[in-house]
Amino acid sequence: MTQAPQNSEPASSIAAGNTVWLKFWGVRGSIPTPGAGTVRYGGNTSCVEVSADGEHLILDAGSGIRPLGLALSAEAAGQPLTLTLLLTHTHWDHIQGFPFFVPAYQPQNQIRVLGYDGARRALQYTLAGQMESPYFPVALAQMPGNIVIEELKETSFSVGKLAVRAVRTKHPGVTMGYRIETSAGSICYIPDHESTPGEHGGEVGELIAGADIVLLDAQYTADEYAMKKGWGHGCLDDVVRIAREAGVKRLFLFHHDPAHDDGFVDMMLARARELAGPMIVDAAKEGERVVLGRL
Ligand SMILES: [Zn+2]
Ligand SMILES: [Zn+2]
Repeated sequence: MTQAPQNSEPASSIAAGNTVWLKFWGVRGSIPTPGAGTVRYGGNTSCVEVSADGEHLILDAGSGIRPLGLALSAEAAGQPLTLTLLLTHTHWDHIQGFPFFVPAYQPQNQIRVLGYDGARRALQYTLAGQMESPYFPVALAQMPGNIVIEELKETSFSVGKLAVRAVRTKHPGVTMGYRIETSAGSICYIPDHESTPGEHGGEVGELIAGADIVLLDAQYTADEYAMKKGWGHGCLDDVVRIAREAGVKRLFLFHHDPAHDDGFVDMMLARARELAGPMIVDAAKEGERVVLGRL
């Protein structure tokens, strides 16, 4: 049931018409992991592009947002881009790519950044902090793109025609998971979440109920999880169980551990499929595009 990467299709939504789709630009957790062992699933940290109902949405700004920015900028060829970046939280693997996001350096572009407050500081302060002079040569305020940072307070909001619902996940600091309702189905994005083995899925379980596509933190095997309880990441067996109980149609294992090479992710996927019953399960793969409505 694995969908092969569709490299012949457009790189971004600009030329993709009215189809609703998502594309994985970064699927790794914690730290980028380039190298021979991760070429198939990819080494960039969290970033997913969603094109739906006239909106161009980017989920998180891990290192995967850098190649996305290059692709968008090449395709736009100087025409203005209107983008919405939705952040789950401000851990480094979800914001570290933003200083390298080329569209943010182009004055014709509008970039709306949405998220909740950082673990201790306001969202604006946290995003600017990683670009301060000891760490980076260009300040956030010096980026020429029109960047508006909005700190969300409500857990239901809309981005154009897309209705979005957010819940707090179990992960250190303030971390959210999102459900996005599109005209072709629902997409849930929960990159960082530790469920409790054997227990009901809780708010996350309710968020993903009946969803068409769910990206869920499946960083650890059951054995690894036993050593890493409380670290804020999911245990494969439990993640599959929760998604199955919630009636998810297609689950993508997401936030792959930096210590897991391609062969290890293959093994985790095989295990997940053993447990999945009728639910379709895949492991998120950098470069893969998934079209909604063609499950
Ligand atoms: Zn993460
Ligand atoms: Zn995190």
